[in-house]
Amino acid sequence: MQGCNMHCTFCIVPQTRGSERSRPQEEIVQEVRELVAQGVKEVTLLGQIVNLYGRHEFPREKDRSPFVQLLYALEEVDGLERIRFTSPHPIGYREDLIRAFTELEKLCEHVHLPLQSGSTRILKQMHRTYSADQYLRLTEKIRTACPEMALTTDIIVGFPGETEEDYLRTREVVRQVAFDNAFIFRYSERRGTPAAGLPDQLPEEVKEARNQDLLAVIDELALEKARKMKGQTVEILVEGPSKTNQTRYTGRTRGNKIVIIPAERRHLGQLLPVRITEYTNGFTFYGDPAIYGELSENEAEAVAVTE
Ligand code: SF4
Repeated sequence: MQGCNMHCTFCIVPQTRGSERSRPQEEIVQEVRELVAQGVKEVTLLGQIVNLYGRHEFPREKDRSPFVQLLYALEEVDGLERIRFTSPHPIGYREDLIRAFTELEKLCEHVHLPLQSGSTRILKQMHRTYSADQYLRLTEKIRTACPEMALTTDIIVGFPGETEEDYLRTREVVRQVAFDNAFIFRYSERRGTPAAGLPDQLPEEVKEARNQDLLAVIDELALEKARKMKGQTVEILVEGPSKTNQTRYTGRTRGNKIVIIPAERRHLGQLLPVRITEYTNGFTFYGDPAIYGELSENEAEAVAVTE
């Protein structure tokens, strides 16, 4: 899916990428089948507002949006192991999509759901068309249906006119949702966007201070979750060698956490159960494959040495 019709006041995408356009479902499913035939195990559906895929082109069926229909169609692709998507818009994130996570085994338990601000006043200025309370209710529903769901987000700090109170509201919402991670951006003017012309542009020092403060909150939340993950066994898809140590490989959990394990080239592209043995900063984990039989003698030895 390309383009976007949402017109958030800070964003240049509708001007640069044009209106929403969606490829036919069958074409996407066929492309995924071809990728799987080449050995691909995981696909990520992309779109600026991916959950609104096909809303102008294709009908709802069986009470499912075109996007949710696409997810169910991909679930049927033999050999495909994991399905992800990014990024949904809170508007249009409905019951059918929440339910899909409880019914589709291949749909990974991670949603990147842009919040942008926790202040409803600022959300209005951003033309985000949902309130902070609606966002909170949505994340509650998502986690009630799927308690292991990892939630990440995008947040802009220092939007024109953002008061300390608005910022603190964002901070509070971040804590309430307990995000697994967040991309935090200092607002910067994009020429040609409505927000660029707004009064009360904030000084860089204020944006920077809010950025750092929010990063510290996210780090703290991530560490708290990392502590709980230690000792657990999770499934990872092995993606490639670690940049710093060729005897180690990185993989990704279904919740999109990076895990480093001792492995070899033959493990590339494999789904392995691993036990989390350590973590560094709440975002990077170390693990050992839970099934020692999957490892060569040398690797099993390396695991034993680290324990
Ligand atoms: S921020 Fe996202 S939803 Fe808003 S206009 Fe840009 S691409 Fe569209």
